[in-house]
Amino acid sequence: MFEKILIANRGEIALRIQRACRELGIKTVVVHSQADTEAKYVKLADESVCIGPPPSRDSYLNIPSIISAAEVTDAEAIHPGYGFLSENADFAERVESSGFVFIGPRPESIRLMGDKISAKEAMRKAGVPVVPGSEGALPEDPKELIKLAKSIGFPVIVKAAGGGGGRGMRVVHTEATLLHAITLTRTEAQAAFNNPMVYLEKYLEGPRHIEIQVLADEHRNAIYLGERDCSMQRRHQKVIEEAPAPGIPRRQIEKIGARCADACRKIKYRGAGTFEFLYERGEFFFIEMNTRVQVEHPVTELITGVDIVQEQIRVAAGLKLAYKQRDITIRGHAIECRINAEDPYKFTPSPGRITHWHPPGGPGIRVDSHAYTNYYVPPHYDSMIGKLIAYGDTRDQAIRRMRIALSEMSVDGIQTNLALHRELLADARFAEGGTSIHYLEEKLARRNG
Ligand code: ADP
Repeated sequence: MFEKILIANRGEIALRIQRACRELGIKTVVVHSQADTEAKYVKLADESVCIGPPPSRDSYLNIPSIISAAEVTDAEAIHPGYGFLSENADFAERVESSGFVFIGPRPESIRLMGDKISAKEAMRKAGVPVVPGSEGALPEDPKELIKLAKSIGFPVIVKAAGGGGGRGMRVVHTEATLLHAITLTRTEAQAAFNNPMVYLEKYLEGPRHIEIQVLADEHRNAIYLGERDCSMQRRHQKVIEEAPAPGIPRRQIEKIGARCADACRKIKYRGAGTFEFLYERGEFFFIEMNTRVQVEHPVTELITGVDIVQEQIRVAAGLKLAYKQRDITIRGHAIECRINAEDPYKFTPSPGRITHWHPPGGPGIRVDSHAYTNYYVPPHYDSMIGKLIAYGDTRDQAIRRMRIALSEMSVDGIQTNLALHRELLADARFAEGGTSIHYLEEKLARRNG
């Protein structure tokens, strides 16, 4: 096992990884930008290294600075968390060629899955059902493009091969707007992801977002840890996640889960990963794979008892997974609310000083956050300041506990989306379970309209 790990991330996930390391008896180095120097989680680490000014491109995305921080602190491995460099194959390669272990999949796997076109191709080959759409690169000829879209059937969605974070997507309802939409998405994709490749997919009109968590080691063991339902989204960004997914037969989950674990073995995957699917009319359609730990991993941890971050570290060290598939049992239900520093109605970011932070507690409540009273939320990064997770024996109990937790929690000095979460936890359709990915947008449109 490693003696010292460098954490190349910030905020709640940097703290989450520190906690996993501490439990495993591993020392931690946290790298940080000048905007995060005073944060408590930075001081909690055994060592910290400032890697640059506040903008991400100069600090959390600065590969040479991160590598030299690992060198000067004698860290053996680097955990990238999520976002930032976590799905950057070049970074993973640089980490390994500099003599450190990258806590994640091999660079080839990141590259394969990081391009959504090659990811879909690989999954199709591995027997995982994918969303119907174009295969490989799009034809140049406009006539061919229209023919292709018609054969898929309108509405279609134009998606960037290198897209992420809910960006680089455009829905097209008619032939007349197709070519323009493709050109626009290509231009945006080039600017945002440095990759102009786009592809077409059938646009599913009322699906749920269901994803399968997997873990794999270098000894050909791969397991799945059940599913998560992340259908409560705004602008393709998850707001609430839960596990298990209400109303989906266990048999069906077991079948798709086994396919995912199988696909991991076929592509020689290593580490934690998530297969994302759209689920419509009882069928699963693969959309993409995330080759890192997810924001919503805690709901899976609560219903399986597996520490996903510790397993990531174990398999990166070359150890076998601590679990076999038969050891994994699902117990109870967990729900996660992402707490963002933002206006709950307009969704504009609300950075600034938290003058009062009161997190909830009690049975079944877990709070993953780096925030505290007097913490300054810097304006340079993502607006998520923490996650509130509730566990119960049943979904009903998890909901009741989450409602209580949300009523206890208070944050002053900045705006947060707590009010939105309170509203959603009181929503009758949410209480029933199984809402589609459009539910929240439609609800917000009704509220504003
Ligand atoms: P990203 O990598 O940006 O997260 P994804 O491919 O995972 O992009 O898609 C994000 C979200 O966009 C999905 O959860 C879903 O809400 C929506 N979406 C993506 N593809 C489709 C599709 N073919 N039909 C309908 N909605 C889609």
